[in-house]
Amino acid sequence: MTQDHLIEARLAPATRTFDSCEPAHPERVVGTFALGGADEVALAVAAAAAAEDWARRSILERGEIVRRAGAAMRDRAADLATLIAREVGKPVLEAGAEVERAAVTCDYVAGQARLAEGELYASDGPAARALTWRRPLGVVAIITPWNFPIGLPLWKLAPALLYGNAVVWKPSEQAPATAAALHEIWLDAGLPAGALGVVFGEAEAGAALVAEEGVAAVSFTGSTAVGRRIAAVAAARGAAVQLELGGKNAVLVLGDADLDLATRLIVQGATSYGGQKCSATSRVVAVDTVYDELRERLAHAFGALRVGDPLAAETDVGPLIDAAAVARAQRYLGAANSDGTTVVVGGEPIDGDGHFMRPALVDGVAPGSQLAWEELFAPVLAMIRAADLEAAIAIVNGTEYGFFTTICSSNVDALLELAPRIDSGIVKHNTVTTAADPHLPFGGWKASGNAVPEQGLAAREFFTRTQTLYFG
Ligand code: NAD
Repeated sequence: MTQDHLIEARLAPATRTFDSCEPAHPERVVGTFALGGADEVALAVAAAAAAEDWARRSILERGEIVRRAGAAMRDRAADLATLIAREVGKPVLEAGAEVERAAVTCDYVAGQARLAEGELYASDGPAARALTWRRPLGVVAIITPWNFPIGLPLWKLAPALLYGNAVVWKPSEQAPATAAALHEIWLDAGLPAGALGVVFGEAEAGAALVAEEGVAAVSFTGSTAVGRRIAAVAAARGAAVQLELGGKNAVLVLGDADLDLATRLIVQGATSYGGQKCSATSRVVAVDTVYDELRERLAHAFGALRVGDPLAAETDVGPLIDAAAVARAQRYLGAANSDGTTVVVGGEPIDGDGHFMRPALVDGVAPGSQLAWEELFAPVLAMIRAADLEAAIAIVNGTEYGFFTTICSSNVDALLELAPRIDSGIVKHNTVTTAADPHLPFGGWKASGNAVPEQGLAAREFFTRTQTLYFG
């Protein structure tokens, strides 16, 4: 059976469809979905624009629905984790952590309903008083990737809906079944159907949504190339844009680092979900005095990783999302070998029908090379040797991206001393790159975003506009 778009509008039966398949078993179909285009997008935006009642409800009532959506996620956590593991190949324990994190986000965002809605000012006007308050934007578009199919949409959906917007969401074509499950949770939590429409499809549907005149703002997470295209189209018609894009994140290992700790957090950051995270550690920049010992420890840890079935609790690394992802990693590793760098351990694809490869540790990567520069989105870690701290900082900053950097040092002052010199939106000390709290702004610099962060109170900034009221 084909799952049709989840919108409050009469739809003709889908003439075009696509399948979502399991990365671990590509012959297994998770579901068949209607493939949307400009017509379905136009219907979805019109239906969302008609859902005006949602904006008129009190924010406390909307907050209660956000809270209930989080509770429903916890109730269905095991099923959701299994679905994520099947549909995008994320190891099931990691998938469970994603669901819990999404529920925590709902708890936090629901709490924002009880913050001040505005501010009272003195005024030169007749009543000597004016106030500002925040109003919804109207219909907003959300376009998301496949790698956090519950977590990332939720970061956007929860604040967008809390603040009274109606949403049209174009989920990734590689995670539509998880999107349908999340939509059902919102409706069960009491969200009126018109307030959230889901159009399934690929780039064509996403591009049509960005171009729709009725869409006031676009929140996009995905690749830098697509984000830049979206920004140009949205800006041309005056729509607000939030872009969360790619990364080439480094762990900077200083001479006084605890190498046990550094090894653990680097391995976790580089290989959890097969390195398929915008926050993944894809470069280690280590100063010369600790480089060789760190390489030996990392090689040992990489060699011990268990690659396999994402539904098995003991699996460290599951499959990559598709065959093209494995082929791309193989191409990069092949080029690296001919560059004079060495694959110390791993890298080989695993025979069988799923999209599996062993995590690769690559030694002696030159700072300007492809492996040091381009986002690969695979479990491939580039080690780059730096003569000293100054050289290390230059290497860390030497890519077009600027998302996460972790500094490993036994001196906690290193964070405050070095962060001003690091061109990253998020800088950490002795902590894995791949984690972020829901109440703190989340966003990358340079090619990793457009400096419009999400989460925390930053989400309220994006999903509302200010109205100023003068009393007379
Ligand atoms: P992608 O850019 O290929 O696709 C993302 C979404 O955009 C999908 O829904 C896709 O259908 C849609 N899309 C594609 N072309 C479009 C177009 N021209 N107009 C409108 N929509 C279009 O990314 P992906 O492969 O799904 O995800 C991986 C990328 O996402 C990586 O670069 C990763 O770093 C990034 N990412 C960033 C963050 C973050 O928070 N910064 C988080 C997760 C993933």
